[in-house]
Amino acid sequence: MCAIVGVHGAKNASKIAYYALFAMQHRGQESTGISAADGKKIRLVKDRGLVTKVFEDESTFDLLSGDCAIGHNRYSTAGDDSILDAQPVFARYKLGEISVAHNGNLVNKDVVRERLIERGAIFQTDMDTENIVHLIAKSKEDKLVDRIKDMINKIEGAYCLVIQSRSKMFVIRDRFGIRPLSLGKFKDGGYMVASETCAFDLVGATFVRDIEPGEMLIFSEGNEPISEKLFEPDYHPCAFEYIYFSRPDSIIDGKNVYETRLIMGRRLAEESPADVDLVIPVPDSGVAAAKGYADGLGVPFEMGIVRNHYVGRTFIEPTQNIREQKVRLKLSPIRHLIEGKKIAIIDDSLVRGTTSTQIVKMLREAGAKEVHMRIASPEIKYPCRYGIDTPTQAELISATSTAEEIAKKIDATTLGFLSIEGLVESLGDDINYSLVSFDGNYFAGGDKDSTSCSSH
Ligand code: AMP
Repeated sequence: MCAIVGVHGAKNASKIAYYALFAMQHRGQESTGISAADGKKIRLVKDRGLVTKVFEDESTFDLLSGDCAIGHNRYSTAGDDSILDAQPVFARYKLGEISVAHNGNLVNKDVVRERLIERGAIFQTDMDTENIVHLIAKSKEDKLVDRIKDMINKIEGAYCLVIQSRSKMFVIRDRFGIRPLSLGKFKDGGYMVASETCAFDLVGATFVRDIEPGEMLIFSEGNEPISEKLFEPDYHPCAFEYIYFSRPDSIIDGKNVYETRLIMGRRLAEESPADVDLVIPVPDSGVAAAKGYADGLGVPFEMGIVRNHYVGRTFIEPTQNIREQKVRLKLSPIRHLIEGKKIAIIDDSLVRGTTSTQIVKMLREAGAKEVHMRIASPEIKYPCRYGIDTPTQAELISATSTAEEIAKKIDATTLGFLSIEGLVESLGDDINYSLVSFDGNYFAGGDKDSTSCSSH
């Protein structure tokens, strides 16, 4: 998972990109970067670390001058934290300079790469974004726009792309629309695109619309953006964006993420009620669903676990040992609220079971009489190949154990999940969501055994 942003035709474009990346920090904390173009040159600054760290020196923005800027936050994948993996990826090629930021995962990365290598290409990283740059550079077409189309016809999977030349910006969303990407507009002229609408709110852009699945938008100086339909849409937006990834204040497909999570929680209360005194969320990921669950049951809701905000997300550390300690660094229970009570604890998802094991233990140590774990999404049985960094199938606890077995393993009194049907109905329309983690339908290619890629 990653965040991308593109700004075109706006003064201080790199500053706007910076604020947008800051608003979307939750989508990736491994590395960040911005490239800016002033019509003559593209300049790039990227490094490992959070947005505020990489761009802490104000003078960086003097370097990143120009009215067009693109940026990227990279989500970490285990053991893979080289500076080389930071995006955007910049290159010089026959037509000049180019910079690319990508959110998604190309399922045919290895095949394409092998072919490129046979023809003499060299790579610096394992990232599929490098494939994109090579395919554009190697295309025989005369114009960049045609080279981009050439490249698009050779890649498969999930992708949202922002591609910058010295004067133009190209924005593309795959025909499945798996990852979100929205268009915003500035009051004084200029446009931006961002993975999430929360970025618009911070920089004062107005939401215009979502980029259509299979659409390319071309931004050039002094012109309104040109839209081209590259593919017939076959819309499958990722349900996990609503469940976990997106910020609660973002709007995807006209639906507010917080509101959707409340509905999932209410539905969970119908499907998997519990006789409890108190409903507590796993902060922050379970908050909205827990509120919905408590409302549904008519039971009090309390923030019974305190979160330390200065610890990164639990998945960032590669080894199991460090991951386990991190949950304890991050979360601590309010004994006063918990002691002697029957508790329902709500989280958005169960992946390896690390978080829930620690949390149940924590609640029991704080004196809970019963701990009923409820998960506001279905059982994750398949690895996602479309941009979410899920572990191998063997590591997914629901792939190998039933809910009853997991309840025993994590020492919960009971454990319940939202059903797939409940999820789809909570999302509330007839869109074919990407439910691959739950149903194993790899509609955009790849399968449960294919290698995960590191672009995200
Ligand atoms: P686990 O502890 O492995 O069962 O993971 C579940 C916890 O990780 C939940 O608290 C989720 O909010 C969070 N989570 C779910 N999916 C992801 C992901 N792809 N990356 C990081 N955290 C996640």
